[in-house]
Formats: sequence, structure tokens, C-alpha cells
Amino acid sequence: MSQLSFEFPDGSVKQFDDGVTSEDIAKSIAVSLGKKAVAAKLDGKLVNNDEPLHKGGKIEIITSDSTDGLSVLRATAAQILKMAIANGFDNIHFGESDADEDGFFVDTDKPDTQISVDQLESLSQSMHKIIKQDLPIKVVFLSAADAAKAAGDDPYQTELVKENEVDGKVKFFEIGDFKSIAEGAVLPSTGKVKIFKLLSVAGAYWQGKSSNPMLQRIYATAFNKQKELDADLEKRKEAHERDHRVIGNELDLFFVDPKVGAGLPYWMPNGATIRRTIERYIVDKEVDNGYQHVYTPVLANLDLYKQSGHWAHYREDMFPPMDMGDGEMLELRPMNCPSHIQIYNHHIRSYRELPLRIAELGMMHRYEKSGALSGLQRVREMTLNDGHTFVALDQIQEEFKNILNLMVDVYHDFDINDYTFRLSYRDPKNTEKYFDDDEMWTKAQTMLKGAMDEMGLKYTEAEGEAAFYGPKLDVQTKTALGNEETLSTIQLDFMLPERFDLHYIGEDGKQHRPVMIHRGLVSTMERFVAYLTEIYKGAFPTWLAPHQVKIIPVSQDKHLDYAKKINEQLRALKIRSSVDTRAEKMGYLIRDAQTHKIPYTLVVGDEEVSGNSVSVRKYGEKDTQSESVPDFIDEVSKDIASYSRE
Ligand code: ATP
Ligand code: ZN
Repeated sequence: MSQLSFEFPDGSVKQFDDGVTSEDIAKSIAVSLGKKAVAAKLDGKLVNNDEPLHKGGKIEIITSDSTDGLSVLRATAAQILKMAIANGFDNIHFGESDADEDGFFVDTDKPDTQISVDQLESLSQSMHKIIKQDLPIKVVFLSAADAAKAAGDDPYQTELVKENEVDGKVKFFEIGDFKSIAEGAVLPSTGKVKIFKLLSVAGAYWQGKSSNPMLQRIYATAFNKQKELDADLEKRKEAHERDHRVIGNELDLFFVDPKVGAGLPYWMPNGATIRRTIERYIVDKEVDNGYQHVYTPVLANLDLYKQSGHWAHYREDMFPPMDMGDGEMLELRPMNCPSHIQIYNHHIRSYRELPLRIAELGMMHRYEKSGALSGLQRVREMTLNDGHTFVALDQIQEEFKNILNLMVDVYHDFDINDYTFRLSYRDPKNTEKYFDDDEMWTKAQTMLKGAMDEMGLKYTEAEGEAAFYGPKLDVQTKTALGNEETLSTIQLDFMLPERFDLHYIGEDGKQHRPVMIHRGLVSTMERFVAYLTEIYKGAFPTWLAPHQVKIIPVSQDKHLDYAKKINEQLRALKIRSSVDTRAEKMGYLIRDAQTHKIPYTLVVGDEEVSGNSVSVRKYGEKDTQSESVPDFIDEVSKDIASYSRE
């Protein structure tokens, strides 16, 4: 029998007979490893533990307690779910399925009906039956013709069969007479899966493309131990309660309508109020810190983006240009930098003007992949709290510090504490994405790192995350779903000043090249509001809350006039107050104000009318407190002003 040679992660090499399984290999290393092994990775590809191997390579044994091991368990559960679906529904089609550290999913399509959440319970029961039978799961290699036959009239499986064909063969998993295309590795029998949970059903485009049909995706998860599942479900519940899309709906902040366009949010009055408050705050803050605010158009001639390099390096993220028919091509801007460069270049600049700080709430459009879009977090039309400062070479460090300090100051006002710094460098091998100029990248990256080190700040480093024109300091935060997102960013750029031939007249009367620092302090309004919604769990601090005070008359007949009078006093002070005039029970109205997370609920009845007072209930507190009207006005006014510290 011929021998195969396997290299282990520690570099050692061993020979085994042709047809050996990874289980045999694991056992030969140590009995305990043999017991824990659930699959293997051969040259990076997952193979079943009991699959006879006919070629050697780099091998890694996967154990049940590892992340990969959990994925194998989940891939097995996905096969069981598929079988349960196939048993329960005639003529159902299957899209892709996948399993990873977050759980697993199976895509299905049934032209005449939809699988609903209500059916998850019965699907789950039929999975339990399949598990109880402990049916073997076999790996079979079908010829292309047999694989096509197995796919039948399922258009998605037919396409997947073609994609998965290797040397005329397609790998399938077989449970009884149920066959499905093998993805990853699975455990040897259905009985190995004990603890799983079907979670939800949602739409998902075939292969993630919005021009493709929408399939139904069943989300689920599986674990080795019940207590791990319980902890995971608890985490999911918390994430759901925090999810800005859920809260956005409950508080009527925004909506996205796929009929209008994915990633194009509509801001409802409540969301718009929060956004307007942030916009006013940040513009004032920047003006106070020496920024000059401008307005520039979202459309520009495509030539502008050819000159900037966006067309060559960023085209994938841009909307296609509009051909105006007379030779003019207009482009929706994906970034505001070229616009601010026009502002800089409109006058001859002197060294006395530097650092020159141009800022704008700049609207921009990016053609993000439809699968990446998420509520307000990742959209296709967005307004960035953008700014570009133009500095002399010897001002870089100081200006970088100024920006960072301003950012920390702003974070303090919004009570943002949980973030990390990431220095984002180019990937030197990717000359298509990044300007190809080694000297400039080395210079800029070294300067950025130097500035951070000098300030004694901790950071991580990531290759391939830079902007195409220069390295960045990204401020990383976590979303409710646990994904890392960039909130603020400061970017160093020697390139665009070169491309646009920018200069200023120096003290020596000669022309000099400025350096550009791009910075987004509070990100786009979209991402920032998504982020704040999640950290506050919808309970916005009073200065940001869309409704700050709700006044509830004990009796709509007797106390409405008094309620209105107080409301007018508050509104005259620009406090966002309203009277609840609905003919509902008082208890219901109070609960409703709490559900909408309104910071102050005032109840007014006979006692309050006669004492010129209000009964105050703060959000999240059980007790009410009687206060004179002037005292309450004083309290709420101080609360609103409290974000701006001394
Ligand atoms: P990301 O890595 O998140 O795609 P980027 O590196 O492309 O962002 P920049 O060009 O630096 O982003 O844009 C500035 C800021 O705008 C980002 O730091 C991020 O906070 C925000 N932003 C970028 N893309 C989107 C989007 N599609 N939706 C909402 N906000 C976004
Ligand atoms: Zn920029």
C-alpha cells in the first residue's frame, strides 16, 4: 500500500497508509486526542473524521472543544435541519448553508409557500426524531451526472453542484436516502448532535446579491452543553434588546423600505430630532475649535474623482456615473475630500492660515454590498461629520493631538467609554487598492505610529485597512451584535495634496506643499445614531431625547388646561414637551411614556393645580416626586445642559 505524508502544525512529518482517516491519525498521536477529535483540516480544507484520505498534506486535528469543533457540530445540525425540511415540505429547494462561531443557517426556497417562525417548533421536533435514530452520515463522491440527478429541478443545488465539482466528482453527505452537497465537515452520525435551537427566519438573497431571488434563511445554533446554549440565548436576547434596528422601530426613529432602495434610510421625526441635536452640537463644537464649516455639492464631474484617484482605487464602492448625454459625466461623491480640496484651492493660501480646518456635514454615497447593509449602521447614503485640516509638515503632530483631544472631549459629552484604537496600514502587496508609493507610505505610517507612541496611547495594528491615500487611526467600537465597527477616524495624507498640486506661500515667500489630515469625529450621522441607540438602549440622555417631557392630566376634563399651560412654559424654553391628550387610563399613559423612554413624565391633578406644582416621574425610577413648577424647570434645564461640562 502506498504511503501518504502528513505535516503537523508543529512542523513534524509522519507517514500513514493510503486510505487512513484523520481519526486514525489522531489516535496514533495520543488516545486522548483520538477521543476528542471530531474532524481535521487538510491543506486548509475540512474533512470528516472517518473519511479515507488519499493524499497527504498539512494536517490539523480539530477537537470538539475548539471553535472549529463547534462549527463541525453545527454543520452536522445543519444537515439534520435540511433533512427535516426535506421530509416536511414537498418540492423544497435549498440555497447555501453555513456554520461558524456564531451559529448556522440553511437557505430554502419554496415557490408557493413560506416557512414561518411558527413552523420552527415542528421542524425542531422532527430534527429530534432524526437525532434519536442516530443515523450514520456518510461521505459519498458522486459523478457529475449523478450529482446533477441528485440536485433534480432545484436551480440552486444545480448551480452549487457545478461550483463544487472537483475532478468530475462532487462530495455529498448522505443520511439514509437524503443527500445534500457537502459543506465543511460533519460528525459521523446524527445522534452526535444533542443540543440545538432554531432561532429565526429571515430573507436572504441567493448568493448575497440583491438582483437574485430572495430565499428564506433559517438561523439556528448548536452547542455541546445545555448551559452553553442557555448562555448564548441570554446573550442573543440582550443583543436583540439593544439592537438599534429593533429600538429604531419601537421608538419610531427611522425605517428602510426595500421598495425605495436598500441602505437608503428615512429619518422619522424622532430620529431626525436626535440627529439635528447632534448636528447642531458638533457644528458648534467644531466652530469653537477653529473649523470653518462649508456646504459643497454631492454631485461633481467624474474628472474630479479621476484626478483624486477615487475612480482608480475606490470605484467598487462608487455608484456608476450619470451620463448626461452631452459628454458630461456626473458622479455621486463617495467621499468629501475632493470637495474640500476645491475650497482650499479657491484662494491662494498663506502659512499664516495653517492649520486650515474645513468641515462639513457632508452627504456621500457608497455602493455597499447589499449583504453588508444593516439599519443605520451601514448604509448607501450617509452624512459624515467630515473635516480636513491642511497643515505644514511641522504641524502634523500638534494637529493630530488637537483632533484626538477634541474627539476625546466629544466622546465625554456622549458618555462613550468603550473603544479601542487601531492603526490601519496599507497592504503593501495590494497595489490596486492603494497608491503605489513605498516612500510616502513608510513616512506616513511611521509618523502616525510616532504620534500615538508619544502620547502613550495603546493601539492595535491592522494591515490592509488604510484609506487608499494614506494610513488611519481608527476608533473601534462594538455593535450590539458584537461586530467591530469604526466610529471615528483620523487619516494622514501626503498624496491628495500632490495629486491636486496644493500649495501655500511660506514665510520665505516660496510655495510649499501642505499635508492633509482627514478626520471624522463622530462618524456618519447614520452610524453614530445607530451606535448611540445601542449604548443607551434607546434611553437617550435628556439633551438628545426626541421627547424630553410628557405631561399627563389626571382627568382630561379637569386638568387639561393646567397641563397645557405648563407645556407652553416648557416649550418657550425650547424643552421638547407635549401633553398626552388621549382618552386613556392614566396608568396606561404613564406606562406608555416609560415604554417610549421619555426622561420626564409629569402627572398633574387637583393637588398640582392648586399648588402650582407637578408630580415628576423620571424614566427608570419607580417613585414620583412633587416639585414646584420653577424647581422642575430648573432641574430639567440643568439636565439638558449637563452634557457640556465646565
Ligand atoms: P468602513 O471600514 O466602516 O467601511 P471606511 O474605512 O470605508 O469605513 P471612511 O472612508 O474612513 O470609511 O469613512 C469615514 C467614516 O464613515 C467611517 O469611519 C465610518 O464610521 C463611517 N462610514 C463608512 N461607511 C459607512 C456606511 N456605509 N454607513 C455608515 N457609516 C459609514
Ligand atoms: Zn477625506
